[in-house]
Amino acid sequence: MPDTIAAIATGAVVSAIGIVRISGVDAIAAADKVFHAAGGVKLRDADNRHMYYGELTGADGALVDLCLCFISRGPDSYTGEDTVEFHCHGSPVVLSEILRMLFSLGVRQAQAGEFTKRAFLNGRLDLTQAEAVIDLIEAETPSAALNAAGQLRGAVGLSLEPVYRTLVDVMAHFHAVLDYPEEDIEDFEMQGYLSALRDSEERLARILSTHDRGRVLRDGIPTAIIGRPNTGKSSLLNALLGYDRAIVTNIAGTTRDTIEEKISIGGVQLRLIDTAGVRKTDDTIEKLGVERTLAALSGAGLVILVLDGSLPLCDEDFSALHSIPPGVPKIAAVNKSDLTHVLSQDDLSGLGLDSCRISALTGDGLDLLESLIGSIFPELGAPPSGEIITNARHAESISRAKDSVCHAIAGISESVTPDAVLTEVESALAAIGEMTGKVMREDVISRIFERFCVGK
Ligand code: GDP
Repeated sequence: MPDTIAAIATGAVVSAIGIVRISGVDAIAAADKVFHAAGGVKLRDADNRHMYYGELTGADGALVDLCLCFISRGPDSYTGEDTVEFHCHGSPVVLSEILRMLFSLGVRQAQAGEFTKRAFLNGRLDLTQAEAVIDLIEAETPSAALNAAGQLRGAVGLSLEPVYRTLVDVMAHFHAVLDYPEEDIEDFEMQGYLSALRDSEERLARILSTHDRGRVLRDGIPTAIIGRPNTGKSSLLNALLGYDRAIVTNIAGTTRDTIEEKISIGGVQLRLIDTAGVRKTDDTIEKLGVERTLAALSGAGLVILVLDGSLPLCDEDFSALHSIPPGVPKIAAVNKSDLTHVLSQDDLSGLGLDSCRISALTGDGLDLLESLIGSIFPELGAPPSGEIITNARHAESISRAKDSVCHAIAGISESVTPDAVLTEVESALAAIGEMTGKVMREDVISRIFERFCVGK
């Protein structure tokens, strides 16, 4: 039987409320030794999922805190085990003292992600739901949080359920055929399996096709800020972020490496990359910066070309423009609108891209730039509810399952032996099972829960 664990669930920071969580077979007994409810009720007799007000005292009877205590008995608790939470004042000293008291009663410190791991092992969550817990905690935009919340409710497992059922049906039948070789599969039955497998393949392809959007949801759109030196690229990065991340000087070539920061604009997450520019240089370090700029450009989902509106266009502006790979959405941010403008609307129209005038120095026009960006990615604003695959592990498993289903379809169509079809169907099932945790792989499971914080 697993031992009893405890951890501070709210982090070791000063806050209004801090929560100590206990889970395991001795959770209620240990809590009973340190907590004294105001009405005198013992926790072992307390109502399930009720809050009790009372005192936490040490072994010497000294008062440690006045707090609320919540108990949730297994198997219907988060972890599936008896669970107790002390909602205390958020003092790291108090919270550590409560842990110390619990440890002296035989409770041990929980490892990172151990509460959620127990929830998974006790069947309260599948593996995709457990991963959604961390995605929800780490979500950086409202859309990413909505998608993670949907996955926490089981959206991924649910979307794969029909595929899983079909594969189990086909597998059962082919096993029977192998065990009783004299039983031929009727032609109409074979057609039924084929169409069910084709339907599964389509479903898997549909789910997999969401992964591109999932990557954007999770990591943001890689957005390269390019332009010749001194147009104000670093100033724009700082202005969008709202703090000085990059060094700004009027010395050309100050930004020698790419700088990356995430920012959310109108619900769209951007991974802004301030580049060193693309100018010709003999400086070895700057040359490396230029190489990185080109690499950033090749992976960009959006490019912001920064022009200096107080100067005429020059060859370097055009070579920056021409360095943008075809098909990548691009915007010109015509900077320094606080200075006298030299660039005319005609100059800008000739560039063939949407533009807006901004001043990275005063902040003027940044709202226009933000709405221009929002208009390029409107579909990203639609609220997802868990149907988007954000996790590379899930995408890899679905892709593997899809390939195996494909091979099984080809096998049936070409009338290969039943055992060859069966092998493919079993591989597809294994891929889905590993993803949801129906098939346990200790190394995968350990790696997943290592990403969690202690107390979760
Ligand atoms: P980068 O080389 O393109 O990254 O350019 P920086 O951001 O380092 O800026 C170059 C110079 O232009 C610095 O002296 C900035 O203070 C100045 N600068 C940047 N944006 C503006 C702006 O909107 N207005 C004015 N007047 N100066 C700016």
